[in-house]
Amino acid sequence: MHRGAVNANRCLWSATAGEPLIFPRLAADVRTQVAIIGAGYTGLSTALHLAKSGISAVVLEALHIGAGGSGLNGGQVIPGVKHDPDRVETMFGAAAGAKLVATVAAGADLVFDLINEHGIQCDAMRTGWLQLANTEEATHTTSQRAQQWKKRGARVEILTRDRVAQLTGSECYRGGWIDYRGGTVQPLSYLRGLAEAARRLGSSLFEHSAARRLHRSGEDWRVETAQGSVTSRQLILATDAFSGSLVPAVRRSMVLVPSFQVATAPLSPDLLQSILPQRQSASDTKQLLRYFRLDSTGRLLLGTRGLFGEAPVDVQVRDHRRAVAEIYPQLRAIPFEYHWGGPVSVTSDSLPRLHEVEPGLLTAFGYNGRGVAMATVMGRLLAQWAAGDDPSNLGFPVTQPRPLPLHAFSQIGARIAVQYFRAKDGIARWRSRSA
Ligand SMILES: Cc1cc2nc3c(=O)[nH]c(=O)nc-3n(C[C@H](O)[C@H](O)[C@H](O)COP(=O)(O)OP(=O)(O)OC[C@H]3O[C@@H](n4cnc5c(N)ncnc54)[C@H](O)[C@@H]3O)c2cc1C
Repeated sequence: MHRGAVNANRCLWSATAGEPLIFPRLAADVRTQVAIIGAGYTGLSTALHLAKSGISAVVLEALHIGAGGSGLNGGQVIPGVKHDPDRVETMFGAAAGAKLVATVAAGADLVFDLINEHGIQCDAMRTGWLQLANTEEATHTTSQRAQQWKKRGARVEILTRDRVAQLTGSECYRGGWIDYRGGTVQPLSYLRGLAEAARRLGSSLFEHSAARRLHRSGEDWRVETAQGSVTSRQLILATDAFSGSLVPAVRRSMVLVPSFQVATAPLSPDLLQSILPQRQSASDTKQLLRYFRLDSTGRLLLGTRGLFGEAPVDVQVRDHRRAVAEIYPQLRAIPFEYHWGGPVSVTSDSLPRLHEVEPGLLTAFGYNGRGVAMATVMGRLLAQWAAGDDPSNLGFPVTQPRPLPLHAFSQIGARIAVQYFRAKDGIARWRSRSA
């Protein structure tokens, strides 16, 4: 099991994705134009986009394809970053902010376009993403959010309480909005599809080939693995929440927050008529948000911020049982057949990062739980940059890493914040019950 992944052997996606692709171990000294460390969406989207431009790339994966967040996530394809578009424009100024909003908004289009273009079999469904308001106050936020996107031409809709109940089959939400650009994928199959497409177009992929050391020599980068090395002009670090100590500034620029998911036994045809009958994916507005969806066989998957490493898995499963029963009392007793989790990279301002760490060493990370679309987009940007595009034209700001001061304490702070938000959600639940 990978560092950070929890019960990856009980992950629904590896059980249902079919036979894994097998890639060799690197056992030679090779030269390429671009070396990429990490075979998640960021690394493989970079390799694929480079290959499309005729640029050779070697991808090194420490374990196997899907060992990181890209093989473990909820498969919710959500366009945009956490902040509302107006807020992004205030943060970055009107012109740069609008560019950034357009770049990140295109994430879902890119995912579904790649799936179509490369014939990736991953149960893709573009049915929309629901954001569900847990309180009256949250309905104002979700309505404003929807209006801001509507103003920018996105196909979205504000939903009343009754409409949410119809679309979800749950009575526990006050309203919300739907973003029709979003949808769902089988995340591991999508990842393997990217790997297969990159390989077909000429990229070289190696598994069980952890990058152990990086050296700069003249204008080249050399990456050493246990049995080989890769030399290249450009090096891309695509390790996100699974970053070790290779580039300490990257690891120290994010905080890791665990997310844990359960998948039920397939629901009966009866239940499927009322629970997410149109198969949207959903997240709510709790501080420690819950996200849920159905898979292609009608299992309900529900995830939420998990407990930190030392918490026994059965405590996390119990927490999720309570969450499922609160949203769907009719599923109170349904068996859970899978449960697994992993770390999510969170940044201080909830925005992803695109950095040139040193000349020729590029990285993107920090997707704050929205990496299916965002990491795919960042891969495209990294490829454009490595291919020689001017970084100021990428549509996303290129910055220098800024490690969090007292990083170890930030990680402890994240634990405290999770407990605090858990308590706040409890109070909000109690208030809305007594209202
Ligand atoms: C439980 C969970 C649920 C989530 N749900 C969603 C969701 O529903 N929707 C959404 O948009 N996002 C979700 N996310 C976030 C999303 O999965 C990530 O943002 C995304 O997968 C990051 O992709 P990546 O390619 O940057 O990193 P990863 O997929 O984590 O890949 C990094 C890879 O680098 C490899 N690596 C590390 N060190 C080395 C080394 N030294 N040498 C070689 N390889 C190395 C790792 O083994 C790993 O395979 C979720 C995440 C988790 C954990």
